[in-house]
Amino acid sequence: MSAAGVTFTRVRKAFGEAVAVKGLDLAIRPGEFVSLLGPSGCGKTTTLRMLAGLEFPTSGEIMIGDRVVNDVAPGKRDIAMVFQSYALYPHMTVGENIAYPLKKQGMAKAERATQVARIAAMLKLEALLDRKPRQLSGGQQQRVALGRALVRSPKVFLLDEPLSNLDAKLRAHMRAELIELHRTLGRTFVYVTHDQLEAMTMSDRIAVMEGGELRQFAPPREVYDRPANLFVAGFIGTPPMNTLPGGFTDGTFSHPAITARFTVTGAPARVVLGVRPEDVLIGQGPHRATVRVVEPTGHETIVMLDAGGSPLTARAPAEASLNPGDAVSFALRAEKLHLFDAESQARLD
Ligand code: ATP
Repeated sequence: MSAAGVTFTRVRKAFGEAVAVKGLDLAIRPGEFVSLLGPSGCGKTTTLRMLAGLEFPTSGEIMIGDRVVNDVAPGKRDIAMVFQSYALYPHMTVGENIAYPLKKQGMAKAERATQVARIAAMLKLEALLDRKPRQLSGGQQQRVALGRALVRSPKVFLLDEPLSNLDAKLRAHMRAELIELHRTLGRTFVYVTHDQLEAMTMSDRIAVMEGGELRQFAPPREVYDRPANLFVAGFIGTPPMNTLPGGFTDGTFSHPAITARFTVTGAPARVVLGVRPEDVLIGQGPHRATVRVVEPTGHETIVMLDAGGSPLTARAPAEASLNPGDAVSFALRAEKLHLFDAESQARLD
């Protein structure tokens, strides 16, 4: 068995009056790691649950490989799902938990033991096989839940915020493990998260959702470097991209503190300039601003400026000595500017 792609075609899901997913078109390639990313309520869990067969689309079509699965029961979809809550069987040992899906399939005991050993080695669970879930840490339970999903070798793995119960250090460790697992298994992973760091570090492509709609579907670098609209621009990146409303005439953006040239054609008169904090260079002219707040984080300093009445955030080196009230000059990295239509919010350049 191999990986299978996943295709959503005009998929819509309404719960009474509330429309959770609005006409979703999304084609995931076989073996791809795709994250569904967005704020709470954007429809990502509903999308995953429809793929799992736990919710039925109001309209539209879902395919796994070349099979339409709209009417296929969850157990017949050749998928495995890992939930946020690990839902391990408390009375079974780790080994029995991992072996359970195989036992249900009717696999012989000796073969089950071989498969459990293989998974336990992969997830470094060998020493824990005889323990009960309550004798494990959160991270260990997480790995057992993953192991139970992995043991069946399904075509598609569905993961719903599987790392959200872990502390920061363990999350970082598990991110690396998941990247490694995806590489060795070569299966399709569909991963729901509201954590942009998880999506950025693990995904081949990120589907950014808002209000039940897909706002961008692209590799992490592209989502960061060329956000398709103001929502994606503001959602990806910490601190977020600065957005400055201004006018646009004859290829020139103008704002009380900033002017910038663009080569776009057909831009409207009202636009929004986007610039990431790392692309605001303090002390390098030609623009002027006043320092409002200085936040040293250790390895850098986040500086909040007032630029002609607009807030503007910059990343500065840790050793920058700036104080509130200081007048500073700044420049914007010309090749890193973004331009959006103020009305439609779509990217222009
Ligand atoms: P979160 O990160 O908070 O889980 P999400 O992006 O996964 O959010 P969904 O759980 O898919 O969002 O929900 C999308 C919208 O659909 C929300 O407005 C939610 O209130 C609504 N919704 C989800 N499930 C149901 C349901 N069973 N009945 C009614 N409305 C629902």
